Amino acid sequence: MSLLPIVFVQESPMRYFFALFTILVLSQPVAAVDKTSDHARKTLEIYTRIIAMETSKNLGNVPGMANYLADELRAAGFAAKDVEVIPVGETAALVVKYRGDGSSGKAPILLLGHMDVVEALAADWERPPFELTRDDKYFYARGSIDNKLGIAQLTATFIRLKKEGFVPNRDLIIAFSGDEETGMVSTRMLAFERDDLAGAAFALNSDAGGGTLDANGKAIVYGVQAAEKTFATWEVTVRNPGGHSSRPRADNAIYDLADIIKNIQAYRFPVRWSDMTRAYFRESGKQRGGDLGAAMIRFADKPEDVAASDRLAREPSYVGATRTTCVVTMLRAGHAENALPQSATATVNCRIFPGVRVAEVEAVLKEVSGNPAAEFVLQGDPTESPVSELRPDVAAAVGKAVHARYPHLTLIPYMESGGTDGMHFRKAGIPTWAVSSRFMDPDDMFAHGLNERMPIDGFYAGLDHWSIILKQLAGPGGQE
Ligand SMILES: [Zn+2]
Repeated sequence: MSLLPIVFVQESPMRYFFALFTILVLSQPVAAVDKTSDHARKTLEIYTRIIAMETSKNLGNVPGMANYLADELRAAGFAAKDVEVIPVGETAALVVKYRGDGSSGKAPILLLGHMDVVEALAADWERPPFELTRDDKYFYARGSIDNKLGIAQLTATFIRLKKEGFVPNRDLIIAFSGDEETGMVSTRMLAFERDDLAGAAFALNSDAGGGTLDANGKAIVYGVQAAEKTFATWEVTVRNPGGHSSRPRADNAIYDLADIIKNIQAYRFPVRWSDMTRAYFRESGKQRGGDLGAAMIRFADKPEDVAASDRLAREPSYVGATRTTCVVTMLRAGHAENALPQSATATVNCRIFPGVRVAEVEAVLKEVSGNPAAEFVLQGDPTESPVSELRPDVAAAVGKAVHARYPHLTLIPYMESGGTDGMHFRKAGIPTWAVSSRFMDPDDMFAHGLNERMPIDGFYAGLDHWSIILKQLAGPGGQE
């Protein structure tokens, strides 16, 4: 899961979606939750057990966690051949097939999550990071949100449905990765090397998406993650013959690089919009009010309104929703205090809209640099992934799960700045939406950070989330 500011999908009209969910109602949760049900107890048991497994990178603990989950699923009645732990270097992936009767003739649904977690240094935490602890309001632990909540819920939901005797009308397939927070090697294996997964109709990811609560616990909106910006980084280097610092020359690698940096700082990529982002800003503007809200509404009405897009560009949370962004994040230059620099290098990190090619952005940066001699070297292998246009059947199923808790709440697709397994599945041609059960106040959000925590009420209130969605999409009452 990415913690970068959320931005909203552009270039992707989803009018039918807004036709379904145009009413915004601030609401409190409905229906009390039975915390003693078999499903509640099983979910908490799995959550507790897997949180105690320190699955940060290079510790080699992910295969043990995958095997534990596999044992639980086999004990619940899944056939051994349908529960597969796949070693990938020091980590592992888990694939579990919930066989359908095929009566719908529809392709399988993939269910995503990741078993690894970001590292946590116990000395810095107020509580032990790899033990589930609690107070009146929260569960605390590394992975309590990202993403062992999703792993526990999906696993326990498979167990629950199996025990209920539920037979889906199409295959449901868990595809858990084991290094989402680092190399995503296991993710790429699942997305690109498994013929049995490649034919899926779509994937639902437990690692992002979810509801936003205000400070009073009222639900504001439910976000469906439908796209991710492309994360791309360049190193920009300027070279110079150098020399003795007592004999300065007119040209200088550091000065030349400084000019380039100032040019990049001054450049803004063109504003982009779509019917969907305009609808998003119109709705958000009404909720927010004030001069920012007014700017959102003006942008929605007329995206060419430069004053409005300039106002949004001043907000770190919204600038990314209006354009591609690039920013200088690191510097390296010179080799001695008494020598003219022979090279100077800046790191430029960009968040690129889906549909805009990495190569296009590189061409723009080269031109903007104003220095034809500057060398641009793209770092790594950025993943360009398309927007997943939300399907009405998926929107309806997720809406049913959300509205069971918060009637009439608005669902809005959004794009994040990059960082979940979903981008690889989207790139592989499998539309992917992240639709976690989580409802949180953004100020409560400590994923990746110290003292990561999950509201206990939300943990229990979300217990039916996945079974409602799966029964709707693969059950006899499904509306697809
Ligand atoms: Zn995550």
